[in-house]
Amino acid sequence: MSEIEKAKKRMDELYKLISYYDEKYYVENNPVISDEEYDKLIHELAELEQKYPEFSKPDSPTKRVGGRPLEGFESVKHERPMLSIDNTYSEEELREFDRRIRRSLGREVEYFLELKIDGVAVSLLYENGLLIKGISRGDGFVGDNITENIKTIRDIPLYVSLKEKFEVRGEVYMSKSDFEVLNKEKVSSGEEPFANPRNAAAGSLKLLNPKEVAKRRLKFFAYGGFFEKNPPTQEETLNFLKNLGFPVNPERKRARNIEEVIEFCMEWETKRVHLTYAIDGIVIKVNSIRDQEILGYTSKSPRWAVAYKFPAEQATTTVKDVIVQVGRTGTLTPVAILEPVHLAGTTVSRASLHNFDEIERLDVRIGDRVFVEKAGEIIPKVIKVVKEVRTGEEKIIKVPERCPECASKVVRDEDEVAYRCPNVSCPAQIKERIIHFASRRAMNIQGLGEKIVNALVETGLVKDYADLYTLKPEQLEKIERMGELSSRKLVENIQKSKNVPFQNLIYALGIRHIGEKASEILAENFTSLDEIKNTDEQKLANIPEIGQVAARSIKEFFDNPKNNEVIQKLKKAGVNTKQEQPVKKEGKLSGIRFVITGTLKKYTREEMKTQLKKYGARVSENISKETDFLIVGENPGSKLEKARKLGVKIISEEEVLKMIEE
Ligand code: NAD
Repeated sequence: MSEIEKAKKRMDELYKLISYYDEKYYVENNPVISDEEYDKLIHELAELEQKYPEFSKPDSPTKRVGGRPLEGFESVKHERPMLSIDNTYSEEELREFDRRIRRSLGREVEYFLELKIDGVAVSLLYENGLLIKGISRGDGFVGDNITENIKTIRDIPLYVSLKEKFEVRGEVYMSKSDFEVLNKEKVSSGEEPFANPRNAAAGSLKLLNPKEVAKRRLKFFAYGGFFEKNPPTQEETLNFLKNLGFPVNPERKRARNIEEVIEFCMEWETKRVHLTYAIDGIVIKVNSIRDQEILGYTSKSPRWAVAYKFPAEQATTTVKDVIVQVGRTGTLTPVAILEPVHLAGTTVSRASLHNFDEIERLDVRIGDRVFVEKAGEIIPKVIKVVKEVRTGEEKIIKVPERCPECASKVVRDEDEVAYRCPNVSCPAQIKERIIHFASRRAMNIQGLGEKIVNALVETGLVKDYADLYTLKPEQLEKIERMGELSSRKLVENIQKSKNVPFQNLIYALGIRHIGEKASEILAENFTSLDEIKNTDEQKLANIPEIGQVAARSIKEFFDNPKNNEVIQKLKKAGVNTKQEQPVKKEGKLSGIRFVITGTLKKYTREEMKTQLKKYGARVSENISKETDFLIVGENPGSKLEKARKLGVKIISEEEVLKMIEE
């Protein structure tokens, strides 16, 4: 096949595929591929069309708005087309947009910045102070009359003081929490969940029964209006809408130049997780309405606006397998092994399935195509299964009857969702406990990674974490890839860990429900493991932030003879299980919030953290407006840039140490 024939064939294929995906997305609100994959196809098509314009179709999806009017609703012609917005994905593309605008107008311009709400566009028509029509976007020229559904949205005023005929444009959306509730309800009644809040909002607006729509608790933000006499800028249009009683998103801003635009876009890329609704980018509009009119429109989008899209948080991929991990407390966690997929800047090959109830609810099977999402968390989760593409070969996932590691019969505690391996000597649990014990925030034993721990447990050299302290270099040398030097170094590191701060030791023990924070609190109240052990349960439970569940768990831990044996072994090995006095809560740095970036000279970051906490300071991983100081070492990361933007004070290691000494 010649190059041209191949191109034509591919273009025909793309037209068909995209039209199928558009139908699924815009009409059924049930996408079968992620937006990123879809955008890639559109991009591929646009490139081919540019190269081979003779094969391009006049109604190509690159030139028109996706979607079409629906059956069951009256079709209404829009007074002005409702278009899409062009996308940009990088700072460079934003600068290019700015250059284009300034070139067209021959002068500098001001922009107006708004959050790109991830919902659906609607047009609202008012006459004599009354809402007379609500119309969906449809194909951009003809939409559906969804007035009755629109009227169920409480944010949208049914009456306004302005008596002229005017139109308001805005986004109907669903909050993140309402979306989760709706999806849970759908899944438990055997229905398909929505992939994201946007599809949920779109799907809800298309319900034929307004009473059902009302239950969906949809919300609205206005972002545009057409009046008899339009205000001169986008900014004033929004203020005018707000004064009329329309909800307008408060996070909006005028930008004097492209630098301010970029700053706003970067800022919201991280801040968006804190919003109660989803946004997928920032919309950048030329502020002057007169300039907007001069710039005009293409067949698909305005030339005076562009969207800066955030990295996608969703992707679709295939579940290759489901493995069951046994945690240090015996909890069995199913983990999906995925066909590797690019997601929010990393390649993802595993996703959490939380527990077996979740698998059943979502009806995930091995071989299924799934939507995975990474919204702020480190481990992505499976959101929904694309059942349309099932072949019948998919395998149902069963709860294992026996622990995959030690073959003990699996149990399920009352009131708990999780299944557990009840065997405390299960090698998987032992391994996990030792890995946890050695981890940075616990005993901080450098060089004791997962592979070595596995070998130590499998060869029987170590049966519990106290055994680590009696290891000799000669024994370690027998482990694969452990030389003389590395064995000696590891033994040294193990020995060095004997004097970690008391709270690290408490955390290292791996008591159920006792995480870092609880360990810190215990270290603020007690001076030794013995003292904690001898405190009665109620007294423990009365400590604020410990509570009944954790107190019970502490008691159970110390009541277990096996655990006491291990603690005795730790003591005998010389591990410090005491501190002279409880860590001071109130210190000279009390209430001050620090973040650390880069490599420090005198201390490691963990040590610095411990020092600061000792004096009552709070140390967190992420910079926010609440941060008081950023401590900067060598080769600082992106936190430095962020601190500058947010106006957080920047100090050196020396300066902090001075603060402590003073
Ligand atoms: P879009 O959603 O990317 O951008 C335009 C829309 O942004 C407007 O119509 C409006 O509804 C909305 N918006 C939100 N806040 C706004 C604000 N402050 N000002 C102005 N508008 C605002 O464009 P689109 O044409 O609606 O949809 C295209 C997108 O849909 C693509 O990104 C594509 O990935 C996705 N899509 C996905 C599939 C799939 O199968 N996954 C199929 C079709 C389309």
